[in-house]
Amino acid sequence: MSVLVVVAALAGRCSDRLEPLPDRPTFYEDGSYSFLSTQTYDAGVPVTWDHCRPIEVVLNPYDAPPGAEALVRDALRDLEQVSAFRFAWGGLRSQRPAPGRRTGPVLVSFSTADETTRMTEGVAGLGGSSWSELEGTRAWFRTGEVTLSASYFALLHDRGETGLMRAVVLHELGHVLGLDHVASTEEIMNGEAGGTLQLGHGDLTGLAKLGSQPCRT
Ligand SMILES: [Zn+2]
Repeated sequence: MSVLVVVAALAGRCSDRLEPLPDRPTFYEDGSYSFLSTQTYDAGVPVTWDHCRPIEVVLNPYDAPPGAEALVRDALRDLEQVSAFRFAWGGLRSQRPAPGRRTGPVLVSFSTADETTRMTEGVAGLGGSSWSELEGTRAWFRTGEVTLSASYFALLHDRGETGLMRAVVLHELGHVLGLDHVASTEEIMNGEAGGTLQLGHGDLTGLAKLGSQPCRT
């Protein structure tokens, strides 16, 4: 069995949004993209972060493969280069995933099925910013989580699959920023790992839409 097949099997059931949401329309412009949440007043306007303020990100290194901090920080840098979003590195923390948090930095951590019930076999990671703050009628993301499979990343690290590790982190951070899954295997937001390892045209278009929303006042 090739590495790619193993990877596809491991990560093939990526129902990884922190909060399941009804199907959203997929937009086709230059590639395909979809939003996790849209404003109640306009289904074409996505919910996302305020790109005029840095998004603080922290890492819990427990159960992480060697090099995890560089992996996450490189992915954040990649996203900064192709979007309007800016990240502030908040360092290492000991906090564990706690869905339901309403404020605080985006937490990246590594977890097992014992700790995170949705981290079932075959899920490479979970990601999302499910909690938003209403300001007038506009909703904003204020915190989020990326929870990565400790066993899957240990396997990828042992196999030297750096590109796939980076792709999964980018995919989950895409959820954090507000992107949903798309069917196209040309996009990193495709729900099954093992396809493209690079951000696609639709990913970039979706990130541009997210980053073009007005700033919070
Ligand atoms: Zn996903």
